Amino acid sequence: MTCPDLLELRGLSRQFGSFKALDGVSLSVRAGSRHAVIGPNGAGKSTLFGLISGTVPATGGTILVDGRDVTRLPVNRRVGLGVAATFQHSSLFLRASVLENVLLAALRPAGAGLGGWRKVSARGSAIGRAHTLLEQVGLPDRYEVPAAELSHGERRQLEVAVALATEPRLLLLDEPAAGMSPAETARLTGLLAALPGDVTVLLIEHDLDMVFELADTVTVMHLGRHLKTGSPDEVRASPEVQTAYLGTMEVSS
Ligand code: ADP
Ligand code: MG
Repeated sequence: MTCPDLLELRGLSRQFGSFKALDGVSLSVRAGSRHAVIGPNGAGKSTLFGLISGTVPATGGTILVDGRDVTRLPVNRRVGLGVAATFQHSSLFLRASVLENVLLAALRPAGAGLGGWRKVSARGSAIGRAHTLLEQVGLPDRYEVPAAELSHGERRQLEVAVALATEPRLLLLDEPAAGMSPAETARLTGLLAALPGDVTVLLIEHDLDMVFELADTVTVMHLGRHLKTGSPDEVRASPEVQTAYLGTMEVSS
């Protein structure tokens, strides 16, 4: 039987000292959904993504990907299972070229069992695919430029290409539109809307226009806790969500 939920979080917690950045969050993300996570600054959204991607260890709870417990797996094993993330703070190789950044992601070891780098024969097709991805994210003709020379918006576009290069089943995007111009945001929104239906997208975003345009499901977090999950309309109409936002929402991240 296939599992309808690609991602399931059960009572997920992360403490920093005595501070509970994430406090018992349970959440299901349907396979193929476009699921947004919103909430005021400090709500625990980036911490949640760190736990799902494996960069931040959980102090409690369980993370299931396709029914498999990945809570203690390192990042590269999760990538091998199809979990790819872009982070709020860039993780690009700034001295490498745009193309090299995508290729490094495309050719990385795909987790346990493969025992090393993919075959040389895979590299030719990886280059073709990298070109296609860079065109899709809006970076054609920038292949040879060092990532350090890209504008802020272009770096975010490159991060999306890097994440897609691992052929993820679950794509985690932490504020991909932060610092983008309206035109860059519109391009990114179009790109994400056009991703194949078998790529599940979990998106943290402050740009609520983007959230409500893309998402079929919205989760609201507040003070490390899960506040509400529902359709965009349900979330917009929720009095508790309005109260949380009116109390603490800031204009930018
Ligand atoms: P969001 O992404 O929703 O703005 P974060 O997950 O970044 O929130 O942060 C949630 C809370 O956890 C914040 O109060 C933040 O200061 C705290 N926090 C995050 N990372 C750390 C850390 N490494 N050490 C201590 N506190 C942290
Ligand atoms: Mg954040």
